[in-house]
Amino acid sequence: MKVVSTIAELKEIIRGWKKEDLSIGLVPTMGYLHEGHGSLVTAARKDNDRVVVSIFVNPIQFAPNEDLATYPRDLEKDSAYCESLGADVIFHPEPEEMYHKNFTTFVDMTLLTEELGGLTRPTDFRGVCTVLSKLFHITEPDRAYFGQKDAQQLAIVRHTVEDLNMNLEIVGCPIIREEDGLAKSSRNTYLSEEERKAALVLSRAVFHGQKMVADGETDASVVLGEMKQMIEAEPLAKIDYVKAVDGLTMQQITEIKAPALVAMAVYIGKTRLIDNFIV
Ligand code: AMP
Repeated sequence: MKVVSTIAELKEIIRGWKKEDLSIGLVPTMGYLHEGHGSLVTAARKDNDRVVVSIFVNPIQFAPNEDLATYPRDLEKDSAYCESLGADVIFHPEPEEMYHKNFTTFVDMTLLTEELGGLTRPTDFRGVCTVLSKLFHITEPDRAYFGQKDAQQLAIVRHTVEDLNMNLEIVGCPIIREEDGLAKSSRNTYLSEEERKAALVLSRAVFHGQKMVADGETDASVVLGEMKQMIEAEPLAKIDYVKAVDGLTMQQITEIKAPALVAMAVYIGKTRLIDNFIV
């Protein structure tokens, strides 16, 4: 497995693969990898001849008050993990490599980014759409792999690919959880022991909401009401949002029916965690 840090080096490798007509799977990440990322690499490994994992803490998707500087990083451990899963290349550019001094082109979208995370973190999705577009152009993958954990991101990337006629398939993969239910996240490392226990309120609320819907409850206000009540009972938790939206348009819905997404972002102390279920 190779670790490359320049776009030129990666393009050279891609050119070689294309000449041999090999299929390419791309797994975009911000690193500090865990089994959630691992499941995407494994899926990519199964479907493609070659697998590229990008590890890039993308500065333009962080607002000034967010955790860009402190976001956890461990390239050595990530490399060993990717190699053990059979990745071929890690692409790990410096920010200056991705955004030169006069960088001025952004990929933005309306509608899907205005709800959920877009309400409180408006910089996020423009930065995500832009970096993914760049990674798709550089890597020219046949398929790119994303976790359902970031459900809004997955919906947005699918839409962008369709709107801009990008020539690749977007593959969504299920949420990987800790044994006790907490969705795996690089940001879980921020949690103190007490906060780690409190963070279980997210998955508990998700499982509760999911069961209500499975049992036939379709009124969003009833389902969300009970989920919010559970979260509010945890003193360390502060709700950013708990909402039901249409799974394709990301617009709020009052009746939960497929394709729907019930998603939440909750602060546990200073750490913002997300979780969701799809119907
Ligand atoms: P990140 O490094 O947090 O930007 O995540 C990179 C990719 O891994 C995204 O597509 C995430 O949705 C996915 N991912 C992160 N955590 C999980 C998880 N617990 N289960 C499945 N996919 C995940």
